[in-house]
Amino acid sequence: MNPDQIEAVNAGRPLAFRNATVLPMDGDVINGGDVLVTGDTIAAVGPRLDVPDGTVEIDASGGIVMPGMVDTHRHMWQTALRGLGADWTLTQYFVFYYLNWGKIFRPEDIAAGNRLAANEAVDAGVTTTLDWSHGLQTVDHGQAAVEALRSAPGRYVLAYGNLLGAPWEWTNSPEFRDFVERTSTDDMLGLQLAFDVTADPAFPEQGAFDAAREFGMRVTTHAGVWGATNDDSIRLMWDHGCMTPDVTYVHAATLTEDSYQRIAASGGNASVSTESEQSAGQGYPPTWELCKHGIPISLSMDTSVWWSADLFSAMRATLSADRSREHLEAHARGDTVGHNRRRAEEVAHWATIGGAKALGLDDKVGTLTPGKKADVVLIKNENSPAMYPLLHPYGTLVFQAQRGDVHTVLVDGQVVKDRHRLVGADLAAARDAVANTVDHARSTMGEQAWQEAMTPELPPSEHIPNPYTYTEFDPGAERHRARREDISGPT
Ligand SMILES: [Zn+2]
Repeated sequence: MNPDQIEAVNAGRPLAFRNATVLPMDGDVINGGDVLVTGDTIAAVGPRLDVPDGTVEIDASGGIVMPGMVDTHRHMWQTALRGLGADWTLTQYFVFYYLNWGKIFRPEDIAAGNRLAANEAVDAGVTTTLDWSHGLQTVDHGQAAVEALRSAPGRYVLAYGNLLGAPWEWTNSPEFRDFVERTSTDDMLGLQLAFDVTADPAFPEQGAFDAAREFGMRVTTHAGVWGATNDDSIRLMWDHGCMTPDVTYVHAATLTEDSYQRIAASGGNASVSTESEQSAGQGYPPTWELCKHGIPISLSMDTSVWWSADLFSAMRATLSADRSREHLEAHARGDTVGHNRRRAEEVAHWATIGGAKALGLDDKVGTLTPGKKADVVLIKNENSPAMYPLLHPYGTLVFQAQRGDVHTVLVDGQVVKDRHRLVGADLAAARDAVANTVDHARSTMGEQAWQEAMTPELPPSEHIPNPYTYTEFDPGAERHRARREDISGPT
């Protein structure tokens, strides 16, 4: 599109994607399909659509058109320190944010992280994100989060949290109630409560669940996190009538059969962050367990202090982890997997309509159904050898495509990405704000703590003794040894 066309579409002129492989996520793949958008709405989906005069047309041939993806658990404020914790354990994460440094984040730091994270999300084809915002130590921080999300491209749910406070206290404070009253919500910005249940037998979290009910808000909670939240938390929620269909269980990894049964029976859903679970150790990514119980699944990336906002990566990791588990269990029985149970199509659904359902937005987004809001992504990259041939569309989406292949993104009918570039995003300003937060964090923490945060202690590791030598009769031994030394130094 040229700038005039983008302006016209954003002012309401119809737009049609032409001749794509359409993955509507509410039905079969449409080869050679069109998607017509008028205003903020998907008007029609099908082959060779008649479109109104003046419609802006995008040649989507060779590409995939699909609904925007939905990330149901992301600590957007932490994007301001992107990558800092790449080598952390979960304990080191807790020590960094909960004990030591979470308190140094000012309202402008929350806003800075949110703005950059929002641009990152839509750039990667993620049109709806639940911002699991547990750095909101005052309502001024909450206000900053709201303003950042309102001013950024994309559709959001602010899941309000405060890792420095007790949820039963801050949810019932006059300041928070006032914040809820004056924060208007709509299709583009919703509100939820975000807090964890610690398994205190007195169940003080009751007050926070009561507040959620009173406000009519959903609850999202980190559950089944090894060593932190476990079966006792689930049992307490169950006993106190707090397990409703409005609860999202994030991770839901280290839980027993009994807890999964309770989640399933109560109609709750799970947000699986496979890369997070694999790297931070909340437990084995649980899709293989959740599927056995029919618990609805959505995907999430958790935090850019470790990972990214890239749901292509989430789909790939999740499908691989699920299959890996199936293989391991089969091998333990002396068996082999003859047919894969989990398919690429299924994780594509989790990344789209699964997320929309988890957020209660499935009547608005998550599929390319006429009448729904126009959150639409075109994946097409003629410069990428990996995007050809397009034979198995879900396979290409899950195992071949990546965020650089996201060609066009619409959110609510507005063009936010065109020909691989964000539209109207002030990335320079977003970067400057984050640079300010980095300076603030680094100077407040001091140079030593800052460096230590990026270089956690390395535990000792030793190679086990090897009874074999493979040099004596090998004419190439010298060459092998030389090559080994090249890689790892003299042995
Ligand atoms: Zn999390």
